[in-house]
Amino acid sequence: MNGSRNKQPTSRDAPRGPGETVDCGEHGPQPETFVCQHVAHSLVSREPVGFHWPEDSDQQFPDAWCSECDERHQRSGYEWTGEAADNLGAKVLCAGCYLEARKLALGE
Ligand SMILES: [Zn+2]
Ligand SMILES: [Zn+2]
Repeated sequence: MNGSRNKQPTSRDAPRGPGETVDCGEHGPQPETFVCQHVAHSLVSREPVGFHWPEDSDQQFPDAWCSECDERHQRSGYEWTGEAADNLGAKVLCAGCYLEARKLALGE
């Protein structure tokens, strides 16, 4: 039996995309998620800012944004352009922090 099961993922060479992990100071290595700067900041302020994501997303942790970004997104014709894009300020969160922010906003 040739048991070479310690296959290292070559994330260094992989293109950036779904499936990336982020090393969170609080939660350790976690799937990478993207949220607007306001959702990210809500983890610090502990003030709920709303939590919106694409309804048709089949991702476990779809990109998410706050209520104010959602209004700008609607005004921009549901495109991330103009003021919607200018104010988004997307941040990377670990999946643990993402779920915390969602819980804070939705009171789950
Ligand atoms: Zn926002
Ligand atoms: Zn985290």
